[in-house]
Amino acid sequence: MPASSSSLEAPSLVFALCIARHSLFTAKGDPWLACGAGCWLWAVSRRKLPGSCGIRSFQIKRFLEDTDDAELNKFVKDFPGSESCHQPEAKTRVSRSHLESRPQTPDLCQDDLEFRPPSWPQSCDSQQFFTAPAPLSPSARPRSPWGKLDPYDSSEDDKEYVGFATLPNQVHRKSVKKGFDFTLMVAGESGLGKSTLVNSLFLTDLYRDRKLLSAEERIMQTVEITKHAVDIEEKGVRLRLTIVDTPGFGDAVNNTECWKPVAEYIDQQFEQYFRDESGLNRKNIQDNRVHCCLYFISPFGHGLRPLDVEFMKALHHRVNIVPILAKADTLTPPEVERKKCKIREEIEHFGIKVYQFPDCDSDEDEDFKLQDQALKESIPFAVIGSNTVVEARGRRVRGRLYPWGIVEVENPGHCDFVKLRTMLVRTHMQDLKDVTRETHYENYRAQCIQSMTRLVVKERNRKLWAKSKQVLGSP
Ligand code: GDP
Repeated sequence: MPASSSSLEAPSLVFALCIARHSLFTAKGDPWLACGAGCWLWAVSRRKLPGSCGIRSFQIKRFLEDTDDAELNKFVKDFPGSESCHQPEAKTRVSRSHLESRPQTPDLCQDDLEFRPPSWPQSCDSQQFFTAPAPLSPSARPRSPWGKLDPYDSSEDDKEYVGFATLPNQVHRKSVKKGFDFTLMVAGESGLGKSTLVNSLFLTDLYRDRKLLSAEERIMQTVEITKHAVDIEEKGVRLRLTIVDTPGFGDAVNNTECWKPVAEYIDQQFEQYFRDESGLNRKNIQDNRVHCCLYFISPFGHGLRPLDVEFMKALHHRVNIVPILAKADTLTPPEVERKKCKIREEIEHFGIKVYQFPDCDSDEDEDFKLQDQALKESIPFAVIGSNTVVEARGRRVRGRLYPWGIVEVENPGHCDFVKLRTMLVRTHMQDLKDVTRETHYENYRAQCIQSMTRLVVKERNRKLWAKSKQVLGSP
């Protein structure tokens, strides 16, 4: 020690020097203690306190600058009575680890109450506990639980990224958590295989409690709208599927305007949604809008019947219509082709706008483009439905067993069932929802707003006219 101990007359003075240096220059100590010791040193150096004899300010300065940490620590530790003055190491460490683990939470716990870190400027050593942690390098970042989807889980991980390439993952995660919904309407004459097809498509039994009416009852029956909802889960993804059926459609002797209740139902769902989204609380709006309507065409006629044309023309601006050629197993392959051609021609001839598949992006791969083309050419989908599993060539398949053979529902050589399911569920479900929202609902909404505006203008004109009549009439 350069400041000779002989020149320090009071041991307490030496101790104060140690504490002051220790606290001020290493910033590990209590700042109040450092302040107190500093004030006392100042007083001593100004010869204001006893025990200052023989000490010069330059000696204090040299003492503070030259003494190394180890010497000071030892001195502070060995000095009698120092236990009460130096910092409670254990408590400080607890508090620090507490701060380290929760750098931004100001919650109070027992340790916080006993030791509070000062709020004045910190030394660089203590600052590291209060600043935000530096971003982890990509290799040190925890692996995403979404494995394959994480664009950073690649060999290029050693590059630095901002991280917004994970945005699709965040959307994916949120959507999966929320679940999906889809509302499908099936329309067409009864007995065309609508319920059988729906059950085959979603592998559920949605019509368990369906009551079939007798011929007499059917004559009297008007078109009804029924709803069946089911929650399906596949690979952790939840889908709330709602099937809207139209029993009684086309069953009456006179079927004029039997499309009306269907059109009204679709409009009611739009109206409900319009009300909900114009209301104050727009959270948890129940979306019952119909996203798609499978319209079943009989395989026994020659193309479209007047009822089919009427229905599709009345509804094509309200809902995505997907025409279906029902019970395709009752037709030979050339017959299926001929019927499909005829129906397509008539659809065009009557100006019916069935659901249009979106165009493929130019950068899509060839396989996808071919699949898309095949889908477009399959309209109307010629389908076969069955709820029974039969044995065909040693395999158990969903199909229909006839004395002359088996028709397999999922065999692309037998019908378009797989194409329809692929389109409906795997490739175009979201597009059907988007078109419903962006086109059909927007049309409805625009019409609503227009008629509301017209009403307001009419009312204002009526009031103006009444007022002017009053003015002109008064003497
Ligand atoms: P929906 O009234 O339109 O719902 O018709 P259903 O699904 O109840 O079917 C009526 C009848 O047609 C039932 O006997 C079904 O087994 C039968 N069926 C359903 N789909 C097909 C099919 O693709 N081909 C044939 N040949 N019969 C079918």
